[in-house]
Amino acid sequence: MKKIGIFGGTFDPIHFGHLSLIEAGVRELDFERAILMPAHVSPFKLEQITANDRDRLAMAELAAKESCDRIEVSDFEIKNEDISYTYNTLSEFRRRYPGYELWFMLGTDSLLTLDKWYRGPELLCEFCFALAARPGYRQAECKQKRAYYEKTFGTKIAELNNRQLDISSTEIRRSVSEGKSISGLVPETVERYIHEHGLYRSLSQRASV
Ligand code: ATP
Repeated sequence: MKKIGIFGGTFDPIHFGHLSLIEAGVRELDFERAILMPAHVSPFKLEQITANDRDRLAMAELAAKESCDRIEVSDFEIKNEDISYTYNTLSEFRRRYPGYELWFMLGTDSLLTLDKWYRGPELLCEFCFALAARPGYRQAECKQKRAYYEKTFGTKIAELNNRQLDISSTEIRRSVSEGKSISGLVPETVERYIHEHGLYRSLSQRASV
């Protein structure tokens, strides 16, 4: 069966940890398309050094351009301007792509809470999951949780052999605000975008909406 991978996140900003995950999905699970899905963040919820929807989408697009051509970006959740529930997004893409198996890509930290997400049991029953190890996350607990999902919900979970990169968006935002280099953590085009648009510059800055 043909497969589509969907990778949701805040991507604030997108970094090489995210890219190594989605590229491993394409390589190992042979996704015909792998879709980066930046989540909508309400302007009222933006923290002080958080980038707005437009900037996060633009950075995801820059990163996708440099990756393999099966990787693309969707503005579906951002355009929706509502709370982005993964269950609703995946259901919409299932409707758009009949005959495809839908896979949601995620890191080990997200796996731990998946059953508590909106319509968690249905999510776990109806869709497949591509899991990427994230350094520093509770591996033993993840293993247990994975076994629980498989047994309780019959969830199909594939483990990716991604290059493990200890990178987080939080660390990147902090580094930029402290004037430290972020080269090697994000693609060069994304780094340039961050500097040219003055993102994450100071802890007291509020991103324009
Ligand atoms: P923040 O530091 O702002 O919480 P983040 O770096 O965790 O951000 P998100 O956009 O919140 O990034 O994550 C989206 C998805 O990417 C999640 O499923 C998360 O587990 C996964 N992910 C993030 N960083 C990595 C990484 N270095 N390796 C593997 N997976 C990752």
